[in-house]
Amino acid sequence: MRVLVISDIHANLAAFETVLNHADGDWDYVWCLGDVVGYGPDPNACCDLLKSLPHLCIAGNHDWAALGRLDIRTFNVDARRAVDWTQKTLTKENIDYLAALPTTFVLGNYTLAHGSPREPVWEYILDPLIAALNFPHFETDYCFVGHTHTPVTYRLLDGGETDAVSPTYNVSQQLNGHRVIINPGSVGQPRDSNPDAAYGILDVESAVFEYRRIPYPVQVTQEKMREYEMPERLIKRLEHGW
Ligand code: ZN
Repeated sequence: MRVLVISDIHANLAAFETVLNHADGDWDYVWCLGDVVGYGPDPNACCDLLKSLPHLCIAGNHDWAALGRLDIRTFNVDARRAVDWTQKTLTKENIDYLAALPTTFVLGNYTLAHGSPREPVWEYILDPLIAALNFPHFETDYCFVGHTHTPVTYRLLDGGETDAVSPTYNVSQQLNGHRVIINPGSVGQPRDSNPDAAYGILDVESAVFEYRRIPYPVQVTQEKMREYEMPERLIKRLEHGW
């Protein structure tokens, strides 16, 4: 089975559609690592599109925020405005969909979480030290996370050290039973100074993973955000990738 691995769509339909077109025909199933909504202008359309695909989705902190499950006082002002707008905009059906998402999932040799296996909704795995602390918290060889919006692979090395490897795009990598935590990056709000939508393709049985990147029409999303009077900072960041 080939899986389209996506995360952090953040209600950016133009980015999501571009990823699906780019990966067309190359997958059988979708694993979505959370934050389907929040920040972007298309929360219902993104939920509806995801629901129309054969998929499994994990809950992210922005999905929970949209449900009113989180105290959003820790969010910055712009993020809070986006949460308020998303809460008002989501249909009852999509609220029910997001409310039913699990926080982790284990499939064969793969563990899925939004933030980290240790603290699935909240923790950011930002460096090899945090990754090292997380390896004891899952039992499979491989773990997929999102949340930081930055594509990276953390490897647990034979000597017990953990390192971070930046992605090489469009190259298949054999995971070879070595324990790794893989972040495919963000579909709808990349933060690694590259505005292109990020995703991955996994061949489940052979454990071969490939990072991918594709430009999408950023201005289509920005125009909708302006129409809805969303914060300018959130609009601008999409074209810079931060
Ligand atoms: Zn996110």
